[in-house]
Amino acid sequence: MSDAAADDPAVGRLRALLRIPTVSRIDGSEDRAAFARFRSTLRELFPRVFSGLEVETVADDLGVLLRWPGRSPGDAAVLMAHYDVVPADEPGWSHPPFAAELTPDGDDLRLWGRGAIDDKNAVAGVLEAVDALLGEGFVPEHDVWLTFGGDEEVMGHAAAAAAAALRERGVRARLVLDEGGAIVQGQFPGITEPTAAIGLSEKGVAAVRLSVHQAGATARTRRATDAPP
Ligand SMILES: [Zn+2]
Repeated sequence: MSDAAADDPAVGRLRALLRIPTVSRIDGSEDRAAFARFRSTLRELFPRVFSGLEVETVADDLGVLLRWPGRSPGDAAVLMAHYDVVPADEPGWSHPPFAAELTPDGDDLRLWGRGAIDDKNAVAGVLEAVDALLGEGFVPEHDVWLTFGGDEEVMGHAAAAAAAALRERGVRARLVLDEGGAIVQGQFPGITEPTAAIGLSEKGVAAVRLSVHQAGATARTRRATDAPP
């Protein structure tokens, strides 16, 4: 990020989003007011998108779903991202996790914050792109759906609700783009340059209940001398 980037309005908008602590907690103790504030901030930062597209919410308002109507019927595109983050309670943050600090980094600037690469960057990136295209008067050929979930880090019910809403309406996606990898360096053997890591799949969730049935047996205490070498 170059020095000029510090004054870029898009960087300012991303920083505003990073400062809102939308921390998901698996025990349900998250600060729901922060999530509501994040959603209202989206509307304030991207008024053209939220007035130009059809907007609804799913999953008790946690998911935001927008439809950008296309010129003609046809397979849609779905652009997904999530705006919750994992907790930042652990010590060791060299910069506060929700201050969106910019620091010099050689000729560049570095932006610090929980969610900077997972995944508020994608939320902001999608909205910046749509906003810019709306400004040019662009109309997509087919519908484009945007969906932003607020609980991806804790099971992702909002994304499931958005998918169910699309399925109910018979929406067929020709493209679904969700979060992927980051720009990484030193992660791949033999490659020293910064590299864009593209994710082709995402981890799933499996809940397993394990039971063991066995007949009771006479306990035998193994003596130290019985231990295998
Ligand atoms: Zn993520």
